[in-house]
Amino acid sequence: MGLEKSIQFLKGVGEKRAALFAKKDIYTVEDLLYFFPRSHEDRSQTKPIGECMDGETVCITGKIYRPPLDTYVRRGMMVTNMSVFDDTGMINIVWYNNKYVKNNFKEGESYSFFGKVSRSRQGRLQLSSPTYERADAGRFTGKIVPIYPLTKNLSQKTVQTTMELALKEAGTIPEYLPEHIRRSYKLAEINFAMRNIHFPKDFESYNIARERFVFEELLVLQLALFGRHEKKAETAGIIFNDVKCIRDFSEKLPFDLTNAQKRTINEICRDCMSGGCMNRLIQGDVGSGKTAVAAAAIYMAVKNGYQAAMMAPTEILASQHADSLSVMFAELDINVVLLTGSMRAKAKRETLAKIADGSADVVIGTHALIEEGVIFNNLGFVVADEQHRFGVEQRAKLQAKGNDPHMLIMSATPIPRTLALILYGDLDISIIDELPPGRKPVKTYAVGENMRGRIYDFVHKNISEGMQAYVVCPLVAETENSDLENAVELSEKLASSYPDIKVGLMHGKMKAKDKDEIMTSFASGETQLLVSTTVIEVGVNVPNSNIMVIENAERFGLSQLHQLRGRVGRGGDQAHCILITDAKNDITKKRMETMCISNDGFYISEQDLKLRGPGDFFGTRQHGLPEMKIANLFEDRDILKLSNEAARQIMNEGIDSYPLLSSRCQKLLAKEIIMN
Ligand code: ADP
Ligand code: MG
Repeated sequence: MGLEKSIQFLKGVGEKRAALFAKKDIYTVEDLLYFFPRSHEDRSQTKPIGECMDGETVCITGKIYRPPLDTYVRRGMMVTNMSVFDDTGMINIVWYNNKYVKNNFKEGESYSFFGKVSRSRQGRLQLSSPTYERADAGRFTGKIVPIYPLTKNLSQKTVQTTMELALKEAGTIPEYLPEHIRRSYKLAEINFAMRNIHFPKDFESYNIARERFVFEELLVLQLALFGRHEKKAETAGIIFNDVKCIRDFSEKLPFDLTNAQKRTINEICRDCMSGGCMNRLIQGDVGSGKTAVAAAAIYMAVKNGYQAAMMAPTEILASQHADSLSVMFAELDINVVLLTGSMRAKAKRETLAKIADGSADVVIGTHALIEEGVIFNNLGFVVADEQHRFGVEQRAKLQAKGNDPHMLIMSATPIPRTLALILYGDLDISIIDELPPGRKPVKTYAVGENMRGRIYDFVHKNISEGMQAYVVCPLVAETENSDLENAVELSEKLASSYPDIKVGLMHGKMKAKDKDEIMTSFASGETQLLVSTTVIEVGVNVPNSNIMVIENAERFGLSQLHQLRGRVGRGGDQAHCILITDAKNDITKKRMETMCISNDGFYISEQDLKLRGPGDFFGTRQHGLPEMKIANLFEDRDILKLSNEAARQIMNEGIDSYPLLSSRCQKLLAKEIIMN
């Protein structure tokens, strides 16, 4: 009862509406209470009609002067007009194509309206399609009214009314937060907060309520993550006795490892000797040399008698990893095999046999690795490359192919450090914050579309001198209502403008085999200009390409642009990245400027978070986090720090002393929305 009660039994809900709420993951009274408004409308002040101004959002109360009148202005367009007055003036109210609205008003009676004032073509002030109620109804007039993120077929009114009922039904809600935490961080008590987050007395009360829930949300998230972390550490892991063997590997490399690479390898060695099971995330900028680090760890696993597996998100990337590892391991007596979905049945059978009998030491592959038929002999080490591409379950499945193998996750999208430490609380983190020596930063420019001709001439000239280039478009093919560049058309245009060069086309809708073919042709230098969508963003390495042109650059996230840019500048030549955009708004300008002034993935990710807002940054779940209900990871970063402090304090005291809080963490974990 109370909080646990199904909302289906609240007055006016019933089965049908309950199903609509279920689409938002709302089942119980408690779920509903934690469905927070996205904003509030201030209808607490009623404005005298005579003082209403064009553009203002107002609440007015007045009598109907002229009864509503329907007029057909043209076919299919009906306008309903009426006038409302108070002591100070008169205003016109209009509705469009609303046949029934006039039945709701009686001449001479008083009503309240809430909406935006505009000026009609005749120059009179009017309210278009306002919210309304009888002046004595008191449902919204004189209040601050919550506005919820809606789902189809659920009106604001329904959600608002149901929320009122839920608050009543809940009665006195027990306090989840430990008393001393609430006091030392000055957090509002739950019942006050719950009332005022939905139906605030005033905006100050709302802010106090919001702060509490932001804190609570971040605290529960971190406690849940920390809790898992502790559990992980308890899992017994395979012990690698020989870690010195890595030296044999690094001596065979054609380059010296950077200090950051060495540090990371040391951290991995320590984990693998510790007796615990490693779950480590490597965060490193594009080109920082994560593959060599993974290869060193894989080498160690094999020399200690185990098989290792590495999962990559695309076939191209998997085969590139297989190639580069085969080269690195060439003289080291290690057998590398590649397993992908597009292999022929016979080859696949043979490979599976090698994996099962242990003659394959290292298995590199795509999702094909986690299919049921893949059985390892003794898998002791797994690597997931470009982790945000994989779901939680996929990584778990890979790990389940062995008996608690060590796991290394490699992320190519740096996220702000403070956030990483807090949010990946369940993983240990190594940061590779150093690029191999001799890299020249990619020179980046943002230009308008009027420069396009000159840009492609520059690209053409560069190709004539023996280099290669990429062009990235936001769309695959032409679509209606969009004047964004598309890869299909642009590749045709470029091929006919520059008949002397070979232009290739690649996009996500192509078959894996065709993608592989075009990528191989580009890697070999036969294709000189590759027009594609973002499918090229992950990992592919073609050192001879030194120009990246990005069309409609405003359509991409900063971290994504940085990732794309990382495809060039891998050889010794000066590389260029040209962002083409005609978008003129301030945010876009700042975003482009960020790209032009910085080559630092960590800095860029911070700006990305700031300029795009966390909805986009984390909303895609690309970092494996649950969607935040109320906290804004950028704007609320001060509260994030405080809640991190509090979470650590609670963990030290032992979360079991706080059963209500602990059960909230359990609930979050049960939803299995947190990575790993
Ligand atoms: P990423 O971290 O983006 O996956 P890669 O592992 O693909 O980067 O490495 C990018 C390139 O840098 C590769 O060609 C690799 O051989 C080279 N590389 C890696 N480590 C070093 C190093 N310490 N010194 C010089 N080159 C290196
Ligand atoms: Mg890589």
